[in-house]
Amino acid sequence: MIDMHCHLDLYKDPFHVVAEAAKKGVSILSVTTTPSAWNGTFALAKGHSCIKTALGLHPQIAHQRYNELNIFDELVPNVEFVGEIGLEGSAGWKEHLPIQTKVFRHILDKTQKAGGRTMSIHSRSAVTLVLDELEKYPDAGVPIMHWFTGTKTQVKRAIDFGCWFSVNLPMIRSKKGQSLLKIIPKERVLTETDGPFAKYKRVPLNPWDVSLCNEPLSEIWGVSQEESQNQVQDNFNAL
Ligand code: MN
Repeated sequence: MIDMHCHLDLYKDPFHVVAEAAKKGVSILSVTTTPSAWNGTFALAKGHSCIKTALGLHPQIAHQRYNELNIFDELVPNVEFVGEIGLEGSAGWKEHLPIQTKVFRHILDKTQKAGGRTMSIHSRSAVTLVLDELEKYPDAGVPIMHWFTGTKTQVKRAIDFGCWFSVNLPMIRSKKGQSLLKIIPKERVLTETDGPFAKYKRVPLNPWDVSLCNEPLSEIWGVSQEESQNQVQDNFNAL
C-alpha cells in the first residue's frame, strides 16, 4: 500500500496512526504545510523506514508563512522530498496568488539548486499557473500532482511535461476524476489519502485507507485488483 500524500502531523494522535500504518505495511510520504513543522513531523517517522517526510509550504498559508522560507532554504539540501507546495486559485485564496507565486518560485529555485527533488504539488484552480512555473524550473525534480482536478487539456499538458499523479478516493469516485484517469498513463499513477483533510463517509481517511482506491482503479484500468495493486507498487518502486 502506498500513501503518497498524507499529513501525519495533523492527526489527533499521530503516533497511533504511524504505529498502525507501520503494522499494516503502508509506505507513506508525510507532507508538511510549513517549514517550521519539519522537525516535529520528521521525528514522527523515526524508526520507520517506510515513512518519508517532505519539506513544504502549503499555498493556502503561503501569505501567512512566507517568512519561514529561510528555514526551507536551510533544510532543503538535506531532505529527500519536497511538498506540499504549489498554488491555490479558488475563492478565498485567489487574492493571495501574487505572494503564493513568489513563494512557489522561491521554493522551485532552491529545490533546483539543491539538485532537484520529488515534489508533491497542490494545483487546485491553478493548474495552468502551476505548469507555467514548473516549466521555468525544469530541473527542480519530479512533480507529483496531488488530487488533480484540472481539465483534460491541462492533464495532457502535465503528462507531456513529465508529471506523475497521486490520486485519492474522492478523485477516483468523481466522474471528472475517472475521465482524467482514462487519459493518465497508468505507469504515472500513485495512490494517496490526503488524510486527515480528505474524508470518507465523514471520517478522516487514515493512510491504510488507500486500499479503498484499489477496486475502483482496477475497474477504470480494466484489470484485476491484484494487477492494479501491483501496478501502483511497481510505479512507486520505479519512482
Ligand atoms: Mn494535502
